[in-house]
Amino acid sequence: MKVETIPVNPFEMNCYIYYDEKSKEGVIIDPAAYLDSEKETISNFITGENIKIKYILNTHGHIDHILGNHWAKETFNTPILMHKDDLPLIEHALEQGQMFGVLFPDPPAPDKFVEESDTIDFGSTSLKIIHAPGHSPGGLCFVDEKEKIIFVGDNVFKESIGRTDLWEGDMDVLLDSINNKIFSYGDDYVLYPGHYDSTTIGEEKKNNPFLQ
Ligand SMILES: [Zn+2]
Repeated sequence: MKVETIPVNPFEMNCYIYYDEKSKEGVIIDPAAYLDSEKETISNFITGENIKIKYILNTHGHIDHILGNHWAKETFNTPILMHKDDLPLIEHALEQGQMFGVLFPDPPAPDKFVEESDTIDFGSTSLKIIHAPGHSPGGLCFVDEKEKIIFVGDNVFKESIGRTDLWEGDMDVLLDSINNKIFSYGDDYVLYPGHYDSTTIGEEKKNNPFLQ
């Protein structure tokens, strides 16, 4: 399995392409390209590697993660999956954008809602869903237990955690999601967050000032 990280948009959010080198099947996580050049970088990578995108996955409904949904749906013509509790954020996407002074086309309705313990299968991979509320009500993490990888959205970052001052954010709930759900996996699991560098559960248990 391979992870390609492409930082995009004014919020420097990490768009991830996660794919199986053998079957060439993959998913795109938070394809929030803003500039045409960012869209081209993502499309060129996928075309160049001959990847068949099976799903568009949203870790959550904040604009820096969904502002490219309209483009991604049109370009890859494949289902968008998210958690139902962040649907209000999708429905009020343009207001979210106004708040931050960012304009983008209205995101399409998600095609399917996923829930805790569901799996997303492609190639020889099965991604397990963690529902991790706190940063937003419908936050999701995607776990590959074979590869020991978790795409953690904006819940936990290298030496930081997600903000909880946005719509229905809750610090106690976020800490519960991190400590009791995400950190229930081994210290050697690699975490790919929505912003900044990747890290591991072990490193964050040791070094993250918000989790001591
Ligand atoms: Zn967020």
